[in-house]
Amino acid sequence: KEFGKNRCRIFVPEDREGELKRATFYQKQRILDALASDRFDVWYQPIMRLSDRSIAHYEALVRLREPDGRMVLPGAFIQAAERHGLVGSIDRVVAGKTFVCQAGLKKRGRIVSFSMNLSGRDLADAGMASFMKRSILESGADPGQLIFEITETAAIQDMDRALDFIRQMKALGCRFSLDDFGVGFTSFVYLRELGVDFIKIDGSFIRKLHERQEDRSVVRAIVQMAREMGIQTVAEFVEQAETMKLLTDFGVDYGQGFLIGKPAPFGSASSITIGRQELG
Ligand code: C2E
Ligand code: MG
Ligand code: MG
Ligand code: MG
Repeated sequence: KEFGKNRCRIFVPEDREGELKRATFYQKQRILDALASDRFDVWYQPIMRLSDRSIAHYEALVRLREPDGRMVLPGAFIQAAERHGLVGSIDRVVAGKTFVCQAGLKKRGRIVSFSMNLSGRDLADAGMASFMKRSILESGADPGQLIFEITETAAIQDMDRALDFIRQMKALGCRFSLDDFGVGFTSFVYLRELGVDFIKIDGSFIRKLHERQEDRSVVRAIVQMAREMGIQTVAEFVEQAETMKLLTDFGVDYGQGFLIGKPAPFGSASSITIGRQELG
């Protein structure tokens, strides 16, 4: 159709590949442009301690701000960034901005903890540990109030290097969390090898907790296993009051989700106050 009506053209795979290359190039160029013009913003979502309903920390979540002001969610670019070797640059920006935010709050007398996501690829990045140490030091952030979430978007390729990164950051006092536990790349092997402080139970087990017996069994089993290992548990996708009550009953330590608060630029009052009012 592209070449006009009443025509017949033979499809050759090269044409299609050309299209695909253009598409991926566009993604790559878009990411590079956003890096060059400082259009990766960081939004923060509260994580609540379920025992007393206090906010324990905030998770940093990246957004790509288009020149027209539209905010693009990470689902649209993180995997492309991983493929093109650019996720480390994005994660450096997010970490740097989060450290500055934490340090700024500290100067004003507020001790606030933050977690940030690291791609599996970052853990194989030889310069990552020194970058983190240097920018924590330069920003004045408190490493004891920082948590790295190892996300499921890419598998850890070099376990020795990953362990070395974790060891170096733990020596500073940083903590680690295994994200999206139960699906994707995260596995019991990682749990055994990485020595994490938190497990984040994947949202797919949480969303319909009150409806699905299977999900309740999975969550209770994870809590028991984590307890025996001295690991704290976090549930993502807490969207309903019923879910929150069940999680509290099961002994899950922390909750995160739209019921508690949506991601927002730090300091914008919106989410947290609404979440807490709804909880009563
Ligand atoms: P994640 O680390 O599991 O983060 C939780 C995601 O679930 C966030 O999506 C958050 O907005 C969303 N969420 C939280 N509570 C609820 C809820 O109650 N309902 C629903 N429907 N969604 C909820 P977001 O911000 O789109 O991020 C998606 C994923 O992208 C993250 O999943 C993480 O794997 C990755 N990501 C985000 N920021 C970064 C980053 O700076 N670096 C890297 N490497 N990955 C990132
Ligand atoms: Mg996360
Ligand atoms: Mg998660
Ligand atoms: Mg998730």
